[in-house]
Amino acid sequence: MTANLLDFDLDGLAVFCERLGEKRFRATQLFRWIHQKGASQFDEMSDLAKSLREKLKTSAQIQPLGIITQHISSDGTIKWLFDVGGGDAVEAVFIPEDDRGTLCISSQAGCAVGCRFCSTGHQGFSRNLTAGEIIAQLWFAEHFLRKHLNSSERVISNVVMMGMGEPLQNYAALVQALRVMLDDHAYGLSRRRVTVSTSGVVPMMDRLGQDCQVALAVSLHAPNDALRDNLVPLNRKYPIAELLDACKRYLAFAPRDFITFEYCMLDGVNDTAQHAAELVKLVRQDPTLGAWCKFNLIPFNPFPASGLTRSAQPVVLAFAKILSDAGIVTTIRKTRGDDIDAACGQLAGDVKDRTAVQKRISKQRTVMLKPVAEIAPSGRGGL
Ligand code: SAH
Ligand code: SF4
Repeated sequence: MTANLLDFDLDGLAVFCERLGEKRFRATQLFRWIHQKGASQFDEMSDLAKSLREKLKTSAQIQPLGIITQHISSDGTIKWLFDVGGGDAVEAVFIPEDDRGTLCISSQAGCAVGCRFCSTGHQGFSRNLTAGEIIAQLWFAEHFLRKHLNSSERVISNVVMMGMGEPLQNYAALVQALRVMLDDHAYGLSRRRVTVSTSGVVPMMDRLGQDCQVALAVSLHAPNDALRDNLVPLNRKYPIAELLDACKRYLAFAPRDFITFEYCMLDGVNDTAQHAAELVKLVRQDPTLGAWCKFNLIPFNPFPASGLTRSAQPVVLAFAKILSDAGIVTTIRKTRGDDIDAACGQLAGDVKDRTAVQKRISKQRTVMLKPVAEIAPSGRGGL
C-alpha cells in the first residue's frame, strides 16, 4: 500500500524518507513542494534526484479529495463538498474578508455529539477523517484559490475547525493536521490564526493546551446545565463548571490569549435578558476567565428538522448589549454564504442522497467553475 504524504507532519515525513534511505533535508524539500507549491506529482519536484522521485512513485502518493460540487456565493464565499468515500461527504468553506481569508474545515464525516440546533448533529456520526483528509481541504483550497485569484501570495491566513464534526473527538488526526498548518515549511499559519472549536470535550482540551496552543472557541450556547444538557448533549458528561475549569487551564497554557464562547441565538430558547444576565454571572465568577473571554453570538441557521427558529435581530442586539455593558467583549457573527447554505450548521454532507443535495443546490445561485479534473491543484486548468 502506498503512503498518503498528506498524512504526515514534517517529523513523520522525515521518518518516511529515512526508511527510503534518504536524508532528513529531503523530507523538508518534499514537504515544501507539497504544501507550499501544491505539487501532487513527483515529477514536478525538479530539485529532487530522479532516483528519489522514482522511489516515491512506487511507495507514496499525494491523495486529493474528490470534489462533488463547488459553489460561489454572491458575497465571494466558496463552498466545496468533498467526497470522502463510502457515501460520505464533508464540506469546507472559504470566507474572504478585507484583511484576511478564512477557511472553515471539517474534522469528521457527521458528528456524534448530536446538538439540537446543528444539521451535522442530526445527521449522526459516520467516521473520523484522517489527518491527510483534514489537510487535503486546506491543501486544495489554498492552491485552488491562488490559481483562481492569480495570486503568488498566500490566500488563506486563518483556519477554523468549525465545519462538520467535533475536532476534539478526532484528536490524533487533528493535532497532526494542526502541526502541518503551523509549520513554516508548509502553511506557516500563526497559532492564533488557527482556531479549534469544541462543544466541550474536557480531557482533550487539556491535551490540546499541552500539545498545540492554538486559539480555542467553546460552543457554550446556554448559561446553565439544565438548558445546555438539552442543547448540547455532551454537557451531561462534562457540565458547565468542568468546562469552565478546563477553559481556565487552557488559558494558563496560552497566556494573553482569549477564549471565544460561541452562542447560537435560538428564538425563545436561550436568548432572553435573563439568560444574558446569567451568562455574565457565570463567566464573571472567575476573574481570569472573566477578563480573557469574549462572546460571539451566532445567528441560528434554521433547518426544518430542528424545529427551532432564529432570534429576531433586536433580541440579539439587546442580548449583546447586556454582555458588553458588563465589560465582556461581544461580537455578532455576520452570516456569510447564506445563498449557498455555507453558513454554520448548514453543512450537511450526505451524498447517499445526491438528488436531494442537487435539488437543494439548484435552487441557489450555483457556479460550477470547471470540471473537477481541471480545478485540482495538480491540474493544468489554469483558472
Ligand atoms: N463541533 C464543534 C465545531 C463545529 S460546529 C463545535 O460544536 O464547536 C461550529 C460552530 O457552529 C459551533 O459553534 C456550533 O455550535 C455552530 N452551529 C452549529 N449548528 C448551527 C446552526 N444551525 N446555526 C448556527 N450555528 C451553528
Ligand atoms: Fe457536532 Fe459541533 Fe454540530 Fe454539536 S455543533 S453536533 S458538536 S458539529
